[in-house]
Amino acid sequence: MADEAAGAPAEGGPRSGLTQRILLGMAAGLVVGVALNLLLGHGLDPAGEVSSFLRGFLVGGIFEVGGAVFMASLKLLVVPLVFVSLVCGTASLDDISRLGRIGGKTIGLYLLTTAAAISLALFAAMLIRPGEGLGLPPDLSYAARPAPGLVETVTNIFPSNPVKAMAEGNMLQIIVFSGLFGFAMTLAGSPGRRLLDIFADLNRVILRLVTVLMEIAPYGVFCLIAKIFALQGLGAIAQMAWYFGVVLGVLLLHAFAVYPALLLGLARLSPLVFLRKMRAAIGFAFSTASSNATLPVTLETVEHRLGVHNSVASFTIPLGATINMDGTAIMQGVATGFIAQAYGIELAPVDYLAVVLTATLASIGTAGVPGVGLIMLAMVLEQVNLPVEGIGLIIGVDRLLDMVRTGVNITGDAAVSCIVARSEGELSEEVFAAP
Ligand code: ASP
Repeated sequence: MADEAAGAPAEGGPRSGLTQRILLGMAAGLVVGVALNLLLGHGLDPAGEVSSFLRGFLVGGIFEVGGAVFMASLKLLVVPLVFVSLVCGTASLDDISRLGRIGGKTIGLYLLTTAAAISLALFAAMLIRPGEGLGLPPDLSYAARPAPGLVETVTNIFPSNPVKAMAEGNMLQIIVFSGLFGFAMTLAGSPGRRLLDIFADLNRVILRLVTVLMEIAPYGVFCLIAKIFALQGLGAIAQMAWYFGVVLGVLLLHAFAVYPALLLGLARLSPLVFLRKMRAAIGFAFSTASSNATLPVTLETVEHRLGVHNSVASFTIPLGATINMDGTAIMQGVATGFIAQAYGIELAPVDYLAVVLTATLASIGTAGVPGVGLIMLAMVLEQVNLPVEGIGLIIGVDRLLDMVRTGVNITGDAAVSCIVARSEGELSEEVFAAP
């Protein structure tokens, strides 16, 4: 094992003071954003000077720049962190066959939780029927972006050029390359061991950088949230209240009932401690709407606050950010039911099965970035012959739901990481239970 102890307490991990400040930043962003939206929407000044100043200087200026800088500072960490951390993780495995076992358990649990999520969502949509009796607007249109095919998805996992994979941030290719590199280090004997010391040091330095950059997080999340709500407002929710409510309800059920049940049942871990420690990371996911951008924070939380050893976390978390999207699957389940009902199309049982399978598989080839769920939804709708332009119905509230479902996506990654680590004896109870 690398000398970095299992889930060693963070050297400056997200302290609760920081968590509080991040949550405060989110709340303040929400209030300011909604207030601005109301102000701008009601054209208070007849000449429109104040409105255009607020729109240009605050929303398009300060919030835009602050949010973009914050996003960039998170994203810049992703590739080096995944590479270095995963090399350390693989090279520190004393028995390399464990990698296969950890991989099998992780992928199995990811597929299982995603299938459960989408089934739950379809069931809720069938029961509540949020799309029934909805008058369709005449000018509905949505241009589906091309989705990757299955053959392309599978061949794309294997990189022919690791530098290109890193430059493009292709997560699955980076995972494959880093895993192979770490594996080769274990086979190489003493050169590999010498290199591992360097990688372990690099890993510490990059994680330190994560904690340094987290200091600007309260301001970053404030800017991101204020901008979104200033532009978006909450008006769209009222028109789509049923759809919004059902997606939100199932997302909350999955986060607060399914994951806790799995954590308790499979790993005997306290869901309360888990959720409390995940608050800051969920806040990041909510503000950025990107599992990928949140990855550094999720990894840091899982290793240093929840006590998962690097050998498990460095593999499960980057993989989860790419292939495990339970929140997104929930949106797709409800949206499929909703669109079918809105168009008065009855889905057959075999269609439901097709939805579960397509949505589960679609999540594998698509990265965790804002709005990707809609591309996957287009694939699902095509699969069951529903009109893709039906997406136009739900697009108005999708950005807001994207924020919530990204929070669920990363919570699922962290929960599976804890369960797998626990089953491998790689979870430090001491760190998990620490305040
Ligand atoms: N934004 C989500 C994520 O990054 C994906 C989606 O649902 O659009 O996890």
